[in-house]
Amino acid sequence: MQLAEVYEKLEETSKRVTPQREQIIRIFSDHAGQPFSAEEIRNFLRAGFGEVGLATIYRTLELLTDLEVLVRETVGDGRAHYHWPVDEEKKPPVMVCMRCGNQTPIPEERLGNIESWATQSLEFQLVDFELTLYGICRLCHIREQRRRRGHESIS
Ligand SMILES: [Zn+2]
Repeated sequence: MQLAEVYEKLEETSKRVTPQREQIIRIFSDHAGQPFSAEEIRNFLRAGFGEVGLATIYRTLELLTDLEVLVRETVGDGRAHYHWPVDEEKKPPVMVCMRCGNQTPIPEERLGNIESWATQSLEFQLVDFELTLYGICRLCHIREQRRRRGHESIS
């Protein structure tokens, strides 16, 4: 799920996106698939945000579970843990060849430029992105050139 969808869901149920809620949502979305207890979330918040009471954290976790943003599970110690479901549909950034269909992943460090340009230069509050480059891969390009040269020598 994308963060924008979560905020929409909160708005639909007329729940405000308080700074605490936003922080909690972010911790989960940054660690998709990883389960956390309310205590662990409190420690996370304490380190980067500030002291938030366990009752408030529990209420937020239950609210997010009701909204199907988080998944609740009870693990070995009997305490509830929550996690952000891993989005299987999200496509990793790739370059796709329109001739052979070959897909080449775009390395993370190449994406940093786009992110900093959007967030810093444009002050665009980036939530998520999908990126696919379409074109002709090197091998197909070479093959095409050879074919063209072949035709030229015949004619
Ligand atoms: Zn190709």
